Amino acid sequence: MPSKALFSKSARLKASDGALPTRIADLEGSMLTSDCDCCGRHFQLYPGHAAFDGRTKLVSLLDRLVCGARRNGRACGGRPRRLALMRDDRQWLLDASGEWVEDDSAFWEPSDFETQIETRAAAF
Ligand SMILES: [Zn+2]
Repeated sequence: MPSKALFSKSARLKASDGALPTRIADLEGSMLTSDCDCCGRHFQLYPGHAAFDGRTKLVSLLDRLVCGARRNGRACGGRPRRLALMRDDRQWLLDASGEWVEDDSAFWEPSDFETQIETRAAAF
């Protein structure tokens, strides 16, 4: 059950942006992913996860999901670090505060990559 504070925050953001989803049912046309805070495994939550009810609040997924990746024969048990929403080539992140924050770190410029000078002779 989300606290009242979370509820009013997401309602405020929704009013200001109008387009960002707060529930599973709002996700059509978007992709929702997360990653485990323990093993770092990447999960695609939407589209593709059939178990969510359309009325489920997205922020509540942070409390409800547990990483089931197997490590050394045991389930990881990590929690989702945050949710990432991708829509129209833009990305937003949602953490426990319940507010979507636009993230432009996923976008890169060709100048972000530099060719490293090979200092060692390649061994064939
Ligand atoms: Zn994990």
